[in-house]
Parts: sequence; C-alpha cells; structure tokens
Amino acid sequence: MSESAIATHVGVWAPLIGHDDVLPQLQRAARAANGSMFDGAALAMTHAWLFTGPPGSGRSIAATALAGALQCADAGCGECAACELSMAGNHPDIEHVVPTAVMYRADEVRALTQRASTLPMVGQWRVIVVEDADRLNDSSANALLKALEEPAERTVWMLCAPSAADVLPTIASRCRQVHIHTPPLQVVVDELVRRYGIHEAHAMWATRAAQGHVGRAAALARDERTRERRLQVLAIPGRLTDLPSCFEAAKAMVATAQADADAIAAQLDEREQVAVLQAYGEGAEGKGLSSASIRARGEISRLKKQQESRARRVLRDEFDRVLLDLLGFYRDVWMTQSGVQQPLINSDLSESIHRIARSSNQDTSVARMNAMTAAVAMLRTNAAPLLVFEGLFVSVWDTSAGLTR
Ligand SMILES: [Zn+2]
Repeated sequence: MSESAIATHVGVWAPLIGHDDVLPQLQRAARAANGSMFDGAALAMTHAWLFTGPPGSGRSIAATALAGALQCADAGCGECAACELSMAGNHPDIEHVVPTAVMYRADEVRALTQRASTLPMVGQWRVIVVEDADRLNDSSANALLKALEEPAERTVWMLCAPSAADVLPTIASRCRQVHIHTPPLQVVVDELVRRYGIHEAHAMWATRAAQGHVGRAAALARDERTRERRLQVLAIPGRLTDLPSCFEAAKAMVATAQADADAIAAQLDEREQVAVLQAYGEGAEGKGLSSASIRARGEISRLKKQQESRARRVLRDEFDRVLLDLLGFYRDVWMTQSGVQQPLINSDLSESIHRIARSSNQDTSVARMNAMTAAVAMLRTNAAPLLVFEGLFVSVWDTSAGLTR
C-alpha cells in the first residue's frame, strides 16, 4: 500500500484534531504493524508507547486512534467491522485502564499484565491503553516493567502521562514517546468548521466552553445531548439557595452521571459480548452465553474484567467533566467581578454569570474554585462521589451565605 492510500483525517484518525505533526508517525506505525509495509519500515512499530501531553491535549485520543488502526487491515479505514468496533469504543482487544485509587495498585497491574499477555480475541493486537501512567508508583511500575521488558508477541502497551518525567525512567526508556501538544484555539475552531460544516461562531463557542479539551469541543459542537447535560450542570450554581437544595443538587447530579455512565457501559458491554461470541462462531442466532464453549466463556469472563475497568473510567470522566464545567463557570464569575475584558468560557450563560457575580465577591469566587479543585482531588482518592459533591455544593452555598449573615 502506498503512503498516500490513507487520507489523514478519516476513519479512526478523525477524532485527532490539530495534531498533524504526529499523525504521519502513527500512521506509519499502524501500516508497519499490519505488515502492509515491506520497505524496512517495520521499525515504525513498537510494543510500548508513551503518549505525553497535558490533560485534554488529546494524548488519550491519539493512543485510542492508533489502537483502533492496529485492529484494521487498512490502518484505520473507518469502514470495516474492526474499525466500527474501535470507533464505537467497544473493540474487545482494546482495553483502557484507569487507576481505581490514587495510585495504581501492584496487584491490579499484575492482573492486567496477565490479561495482556494472552492472544487477541478477534483482532491482530491486544492493546492496553494505560491512562494516567504518572500514577504508577514504584511497586506498580515494577509490575508493569516486566511486561514492557519481555512484551508478549501480539500485545501493545500505550501509556498516557503529562510528560516523560512523570513516569519512572525505567518505564519511559522502554517506550517510544509521542508528544501531543494542546492545539491552539483557532486551529480547533477551523477544524470543527471544516469537518462538520458548522458555523464558526458555534465552533468558537464549543471550543471555549470545552476549555481546551478537544474531544469535548467536538462533542459540544455536534451533540445535542452533550449540550443539554452541560446546561443542566451549569444551572446548579443558581440553585444552591439553602442547605436542602445543596443535597438535592448533589443527589441529582451523581444519579444522572451514574445513569449516563451505566447506559454507555451497558451498550458497549453487550456489543462486545456479541463480537466475541461471533468470533467463536457462536451466539450469532441469539443462543448467547449458555451454549458458548469453554474457551468463549473464558474470553467473556476476561471481557467482563475489562468492562468493569471501563465502567469506572466512564464514570470518572463524567465527574471530571462536571467539575471542569463548574470550574469554568466560576472562573467566568471571577473574571466578571475583576472587570478584566476577556471572552467568557460560557458566553451563552452571561446572564446567570453576571447575576452570581453581583451577589458575591472575588474572594468568594476564589474559594469556590478552590473547592472545585479540592473535589477533583478527593474523587481521585476514591472518596464516595455523593459525599464529595454534597460537601462541594454546601461549601459553595456556604461561602455566599457568609456574605449575608
Ligand atoms: Zn478498517
């Protein structure tokens, strides 16, 4: 296949916005990996990758795109069955992991390396995307190191971290590093306009509201449900009028996030099970798990482990998004109070931003932003989300109550 056979921004590569600098390298790797490149470029592929860049830069989007391309005979065409599974986020041979506590636990990583060492279920490669690899401590990193030193033949590791300095040198030195820059605002806006044919003003609004998170910008620009959820979250500050309202808001917020995460996970889980059963020539006519062979059952139980880990990740992403939105809202309030002339992150909500800006002061806003940051940190320690959000909303309300008491 010639280099030009792959259009840059189609198929599994489409979500990668503003990263033309790294795209050729990743696409070469994908072609080398599926053996369609015989000119000595096989070295373009390797078993261990480290994607670095700040949160939201697209480091995990880049890893996910490469993971998808590795499953496709055509390096991520976007049209074959494998690409469809990858792009829907439910390819059984691609596993995303996030830490279940502040740091990855060594036993967790050991179980993961065992899963990783088996052959792929339906595709060519078993790909493990390790999010937040900066949260590997000495013992969990050592558990991973063994797998990186003696990689299983069909397994690829993709680690994501802010920078190479954030992971142990022994880990970093065994990975090929790909640095993902945060694309400039205007680049993201132009891409959204070009790709989705939307108005520039709408693209600009979505990009600002996403606060530099490229994937979120695309979702806000294109998906009505995403926009609705954002408005629900950003209505919360105006509703925190007394103590009961804080508890109510926390309860509703956590329940909605959980329901959304469950819906995503359930949908993916079912499709994956079907994919695995079909790969074993079973379940295609709805016979399902009961008649599945022992080997297929083994695969299904492994899949379940992956699905549990993904459910945690989906929920964590939901909470992160909520807190990022709220943080952006109070940043707008603070900006308004300070009189600095800068575009609002949430330009569509300027009325409620101004109202809250008038009813509080800059100190209050700073205290509220600090409370958001503290909540992010608490969720990272695996604190119960409901308690975290109750505490957060009460402290947001309390800072303003202090003004009138
Ligand atoms: Zn494909």
